[in-house]
Amino acid sequence: MAVDHITQALWSATTAFKTYPSLSGDLEVDVAIVGAGITGISTAYSLVKAGKKVAVLEALKVGSGTTGSSTGNLYAPIDERLYTIASKHSEETMRAVATSRTAAIDFIEQRVLEFNIDCEFNRVPWYLFSEPGNDLMAQVGKEREAAEKAGLPVTGEAPASFPFKVESMANIAHQAQFNPLKYVQGLAAAIAGDNCLLFEGTKVMDVEDGEPCVVQTERGKVTAKQVIMATHSPKGIYAVHTAMEPYREYAMAVRLKGASPAGGVYWHVQQMQHYSVRPYSNEQGNFLLILGEAHKVGHKEHNEENFLKLEEYLKAHFDVDHIVYKWAAQNYKPADALPYIGTSPLQNNTYIATGFAADGLVYGTLSGMIISDIIAGKENEWAKLYDPTRFTPIASAPKFAKENIDVAFHLVKDFLFYGETDQLKEIRAGEGKTIEIDDEKLAAYRDEEGQLHVVSSICPHMGCVVHFNNAEKSWDCPCHGSRFSIEGEVLEGPAYHNLAKPKATNDTEE
Ligand SMILES: Cc1cc2nc3c(=O)[nH]c(=O)nc-3n(C[C@H](O)[C@H](O)[C@H](O)COP(=O)(O)OP(=O)(O)OC[C@H]3O[C@@H](n4cnc5c(N)ncnc54)[C@H](O)[C@@H]3O)c2cc1C
Repeated sequence: MAVDHITQALWSATTAFKTYPSLSGDLEVDVAIVGAGITGISTAYSLVKAGKKVAVLEALKVGSGTTGSSTGNLYAPIDERLYTIASKHSEETMRAVATSRTAAIDFIEQRVLEFNIDCEFNRVPWYLFSEPGNDLMAQVGKEREAAEKAGLPVTGEAPASFPFKVESMANIAHQAQFNPLKYVQGLAAAIAGDNCLLFEGTKVMDVEDGEPCVVQTERGKVTAKQVIMATHSPKGIYAVHTAMEPYREYAMAVRLKGASPAGGVYWHVQQMQHYSVRPYSNEQGNFLLILGEAHKVGHKEHNEENFLKLEEYLKAHFDVDHIVYKWAAQNYKPADALPYIGTSPLQNNTYIATGFAADGLVYGTLSGMIISDIIAGKENEWAKLYDPTRFTPIASAPKFAKENIDVAFHLVKDFLFYGETDQLKEIRAGEGKTIEIDDEKLAAYRDEEGQLHVVSSICPHMGCVVHFNNAEKSWDCPCHGSRFSIEGEVLEGPAYHNLAKPKATNDTEE
């Protein structure tokens, strides 16, 4: 199958980016927000409305992080299923999750109407379904029952034109989908001004919690009463890193030979996961998007396989003409199935919003609603539910233990089995390997032209060894999800600093 644009997300390839200046010099504001994804921009909107002066500091461009690489679906249920919340917490918690997420979708719709944001926002149904013959009926039935208990408008009926064979169905009306990048770009443009200073190309290098907080950037320092880490996973060392698992997930946008299915969020249950399918149309034509094949960051050797599996699935279910875009992006799954939104544990004036799994367009919006209320001194009915200082040993136990055994395993195993290839010349074109030369632990990649790119293989976040990702040509840390380019630059995740150049010290950030 032909591919037009490799590893580029549909949204960033087809949406015009507005440009904002970089910070130049020091600044004092009420609140500094690090990161201009859906979380940072939604929070900025609500804080400005509450009368605060805000600076948003973005390393790259507004919306260019995970928000611009998502699939743009907005729904009240969650990736891990509502029934998981009921079993890990309670039915009351499950209802509160559904109600708060519904309120966040309504918030997005209200902003679209308030600012007339052209982002193809549409109310559509959300479907979770299984096909005949794969024994997954029970899972769908359980979620339908959970959705009903959570007060969502759910039925077990599939519409007549449904594009898949169905054995079991949970069909929730009045969910939504949009172009997430156009939305965030539109909202940012609407709020930018004297009380909402937006800076792009402004990488934050350190945040010091205090009274005031001090945010150091490469281009000056920002002093603020409060700081919000809206960087998807908070930068630096935070307790929540030990309670989240980073996952890489794969997406594709294809053109079909025939007509697209009707608008809707189609979650097709598979063994151990689901594929998420949705149509999208803009002036460039009709696309069908698919998302799936998640795996823990840095835990897969042949990442290309994941794209191939998505392609096989699409070919089996649709008359695909060709792949137009394919890309991957990251999720952080929380140990107890609830995100961490609010004051950072052990800090006073730093706020975090993370652990969204694949549901963060809604949770990021909800974070803005909750954190802005806390800062403005207003009661928020959901603040306690998502409070990062909560301790839920029973709900978190299996995942918490697994995550930390995984980290310990990688710390030991990757150091023990280092350097099976001790010769740089053995590395073939397109291949990346961790090797040891003169007691120095290195990550070496040979590009298609035969040139070697060598950096330290020790993640500067907490000292784990990075693994090569052959689909995206990056070095990915299996412990907390930091990712680096083949030249060692931070791409995403909690690390502030780049992989060191060879012959440099390997100190961690602590
Ligand atoms: C493939 C995929 C599909 C998804 N689809 C959906 C979906 O359909 N629906 C849904 O609800 N959720 C979805 N999600 C989840 C959702 O996309 C994310 O949870 C959400 O976008 C996170 O938003 P954010 O603003 O917190 O983070 P981001 O959008 O990642 O924004 C963080 C920003 O911080 C900036 N930043 C990082 N470090 C620094 C620094 N040092 N200094 C300054 N700025 C910095 C980054 O450049 C970035 O712009 C999907 C996730 C994946 C991986």
